[in-house]
Amino acid sequence: MEYVTLNNHLKMPVLGFGVFRVPDKNECAEIVYQAIKAGYRLIDTAAVYTNEDAVGDGIRKAMSEGICSREDLFITSKLWVQDMKDFDSAKQAIDTSLKKSGLEYFDLYLLHQALGDYFAAWRALEVAYKEGKLKSIGVSNFYPHILTNFCETVEIKPMVNQIELHPYFIQEDALKVMKEYNVIPEAWAPLGGGRYNPFEDQMLQEIATKYNKTVGQVILRWNIQRGVVVIPKSTHQERIVENIDVFDFCLNDEEMKLISSLDKGYGGSRTKHFDPEFVKTVLANKIHD
Ligand code: NDP
Repeated sequence: MEYVTLNNHLKMPVLGFGVFRVPDKNECAEIVYQAIKAGYRLIDTAAVYTNEDAVGDGIRKAMSEGICSREDLFITSKLWVQDMKDFDSAKQAIDTSLKKSGLEYFDLYLLHQALGDYFAAWRALEVAYKEGKLKSIGVSNFYPHILTNFCETVEIKPMVNQIELHPYFIQEDALKVMKEYNVIPEAWAPLGGGRYNPFEDQMLQEIATKYNKTVGQVILRWNIQRGVVVIPKSTHQERIVENIDVFDFCLNDEEMKLISSLDKGYGGSRTKHFDPEFVKTVLANKIHD
């Protein structure tokens, strides 16, 4: 596994395992266990995925078999919008996340969206960070102007910003702003999240054939090579194994540019995040993503 160093000097794996849309507890615990067995050390969950407990179970199973120790792992969870009403609701939700997972600390904890009173919520994350309950803290879905205002205002700057990043939404402007503030970019939906189908793209298939790799491996590699942490999700064991096997080849500059040329300039999240009705619906607790 390769690592990046966060602005607080903590090391974070450049590739991890996401568990969005895996609500079944047994299935989630099993795939987390399988992922750790396959070599993943970063697991990405969230309070709103309702599987923090199952993630904890999968981790404990792997540790009980001696596959890894807690110190080897980098576990991320996220604070959902309903717990971003004020400082106290956020503080309580951090403790609830920890309790559900059965973990003493998270390696990374994120504000899931720039919604609600996210400054008050951030102060609760800062306190938990200083107490050692959260080893690093960050944000998610913070667009460049929001991130700039945030970094210019808060006491502890976020270590990570998790946003939608794949060849159809490359967000180079967002990456520039993150670099300026030393915030590590982390890609959600690095394989297109099921909303795009990169697997049928002829150019990607040709690059994959050249390296004897799959399209999925090529686009994960592309993000890693431009400094982005990736957290692909799969409930299939063969794909779990496939998606981590990206450290034995290197894309050249021309291939990097070709893949970036697939950019559409918008992602699956754009229509939602920029829609006032979406904001109201999330705040009213009617939808989860
Ligand atoms: P991904 O880009 O990881 O894509 C997952 C989809 O691709 C699934 O349908 C999966 O199917 C399929 N897939 C996985 N591997 C392969 C492969 N090798 N070949 C072909 N198909 C494959 O999307 P996600 O939306 O899950 O994003 C990844 C993670 O990012 C999430 O799990 C979550 O942890 C996080 N996330 C965070 C968000 C945020 O707002 N902060 C928003 C969305 C996600 P199958 O499972 O059947 O194999």
